[in-house]
Amino acid sequence: MVIVMQPGVKAEQIQQIAARLEEVGLGVHLSEGKFRTIIGAIGDEKLVRQMSLEALPFVEKVLPITQPFKLVSREFQQENSVFKVGDCTIGDKQVVLMAGPCAVESEEQLLQAAAGVKAAGAQILRGGAFKPRTSPYAFQGLEEKGLELLAKVREKTGLPIVTEVMDQHTVGLVAEYADILQVGARNMQNFHLLRELGKLEKPILLKRGMSATIEEWLMAAEYIVSSGNPQVILCERGIRTFESSTRNTLDLSAVPVVKHLSHLPVIVDPSHGTGSWRWVPSMSRAAVAAGADGVMIEVHPQPAQALCDGAQSLTIDKFTALVTELRQVAAVFGKYITEEQA
Ligand code: PEP
Ligand code: MN
Repeated sequence: MVIVMQPGVKAEQIQQIAARLEEVGLGVHLSEGKFRTIIGAIGDEKLVRQMSLEALPFVEKVLPITQPFKLVSREFQQENSVFKVGDCTIGDKQVVLMAGPCAVESEEQLLQAAAGVKAAGAQILRGGAFKPRTSPYAFQGLEEKGLELLAKVREKTGLPIVTEVMDQHTVGLVAEYADILQVGARNMQNFHLLRELGKLEKPILLKRGMSATIEEWLMAAEYIVSSGNPQVILCERGIRTFESSTRNTLDLSAVPVVKHLSHLPVIVDPSHGTGSWRWVPSMSRAAVAAGADGVMIEVHPQPAQALCDGAQSLTIDKFTALVTELRQVAAVFGKYITEEQA
């Protein structure tokens, strides 16, 4: 249930309600918005109804949350969640560009990619150090050495980094380096991992599982938020369908649907969504037009030499040209991409 408080409610009045809810074993989640404070009571709805909280003068209304996901639902929080990473805000008017190679391969490769995407206007550097590969014989990533290189390149370029964490045992390690921790599609329902990430105070980029419904995806986000970390950014990266002309089927309809159901930001990954650099520009433009809060794009200084996902990686020149187009698309919808950086 959500308990919507009257404007100007006092801290002790909020405390009074929280204490009553906790007394009967309900979970309490506070959302202090610009205009309203809302208390989420998680647990048996009957217990909340029995309290007749609406009788209190500082309570405006008590409403059920009809969705199975509670804390991430729009019913719980009407305003968009906005998270700050480095100099950018995710979830507001800014369209955030995350770009970089699929995998960290060497200092030179990462630095070239980072400098290139930064000059084009990207605000966040992506790069995998732990790679969840389908084949155990494929390049598995540089692991901790990769994290060190990411930190070094962040130092040189000032770009915050997003990188994948593959299991709950390495959450501490990855969190030492990353500004945003990515949960890959293959791990979307790794509930031990999600719970561990719920203990962090850093944003989590939660990719949609390749066969996950939107509801399952939001339930995965609920695991992280209900474990204590409200900073979840959702990432649509394509789902498995019968279509084989593209690596996955990029479900752009998920963007408006998720925005309707949830207050969390949504970004789109057209690289994994399509599997080919050819389709990345059009799908990126479409993602921004569909209302995505950003895109995550694989960019490699020499895609033909990439150890991972070269076929879907843009060159720095192609990425630079795409950003110019995305700036125009964003402007049509009253949004913006930061100006090019030196
Ligand atoms: C990635 O972003 O590098 C990645 C492995 O993506 P996904 O989990 O979406 O396949
Ligand atoms: Mn990749």
